[in-house]
Amino acid sequence: MIRNPVPWPNGARCAVAITLDMDADSLVHLAHPEDSTSRVSAISMLRYGPEVAVPRVLETYRRFGLRQTFFVPAWCIEQYPRAIEAMLSGGHEVAHHGYIHENPRDGTREDQRYWLRRGIEVIERVTGKRPRGWRAPLYNFSDHSADLLIEEGFVYDASLMGDDVPYVLRTERGELIELPSHWGLDDWPPYVHSLDLDYVMQVMAPERAIEGFKAEFEAMWEHRGLWIAVWHPFVSGRLARWRAVETLIEHMLGRGDVWFAPLEEIAAHVRRCIDDGTYAPRVDHLPYYREPVSVGR
Ligand SMILES: [Zn+2]
Repeated sequence: MIRNPVPWPNGARCAVAITLDMDADSLVHLAHPEDSTSRVSAISMLRYGPEVAVPRVLETYRRFGLRQTFFVPAWCIEQYPRAIEAMLSGGHEVAHHGYIHENPRDGTREDQRYWLRRGIEVIERVTGKRPRGWRAPLYNFSDHSADLLIEEGFVYDASLMGDDVPYVLRTERGELIELPSHWGLDDWPPYVHSLDLDYVMQVMAPERAIEGFKAEFEAMWEHRGLWIAVWHPFVSGRLARWRAVETLIEHMLGRGDVWFAPLEEIAAHVRRCIDDGTYAPRVDHLPYYREPVSVGR
């Protein structure tokens, strides 16, 4: 089913990463700059992430002995220092997720470079090292993103959906490891319901949502792929949902031969395997198109 599985460390059958995007209330300020501060209920729902969910999640990770990745907009790093300190003291990775969750596709190449650098500066100051990885806010990877990430020394991106295993993004500037996921592993479709965020879905029971995530895991375990959950503390960190996540983690660990790791470690492993010739990744050349698609007639 997968033509080029990665030789995962210690003979593991698949690599697993729960990535939590701690967007907090950046989302409501971006969506409603004119009156966001009066939307107290929405802000309370989003602050649940750093205030309540992150400590809960970190306690779970501590109990299971896991280190994982958090993607955090730099504005949220400045706004919620206690949550970030707790992530860092648990040995977790804090990776780049925009400045205030701005849409990279809205700006020029120079605008995009400005926000990328502003985020790097905050992460470097707070964590003591440059970020290795990036996830575009709302998967809005632009046709300039790969070049800019390469120029700023990033090792990996985690925004795209082009494979079941890591692959390479190559541009004229160089290359980047892509650690892909997809909407089937995102917690917005099953859970998010918010008039303020203009996203109103019928809320799914945790057991049903987890069933989908678990089916994705079983396939990756069987075929030696990469399972990356794209979740959010304010969404999946709610009590009943996180309890279901703990059950899923127990199931995965019980399966055996599963490599749980932060994305920076997965990317470093993939890079080593490419360099020593034990992994031949698929390569996507970017940009996909240099001009608008016109079919004429
Ligand atoms: Zn986000």
